[in-house]
Amino acid sequence: MDPNQTFLDMFAAMKDKDFETARELALALKGWFANGGFYPHQYTPEAMHCYIASVLRRTFGHGPDPVFSLVCRYCDAGEGIATEEDAIGEGWSEIEPAFALPQANYCGVCPDCRITADN
Ligand SMILES: [Zn+2]
Repeated sequence: MDPNQTFLDMFAAMKDKDFETARELALALKGWFANGGFYPHQYTPEAMHCYIASVLRRTFGHGPDPVFSLVCRYCDAGEGIATEEDAIGEGWSEIEPAFALPQANYCGVCPDCRITADN
């Protein structure tokens, strides 16, 4: 994937109000960066994630839902949990979409951190 071209296509799709395409491209970019892909040289990672988050927010309800991937608000737990139901079954709470996070599409509080927070 060429993230620079994908970014430009996403930008153009937003301008054309083609929200389904923009959302697909935003999710593709997010997945690319989450897997360690390089950033287009003219953007900082912060600026890139800020814009991707903005696109995901504004295209909510259009096109595909993000693949479920989860990270804990307080630690790096969450890898390998495939669905929100699995997470709840394992004792996660406060699960919500995390458009701005580079490494996951949802964040929550893992069972370990929930116990710590309660004490
Ligand atoms: Zn945690």
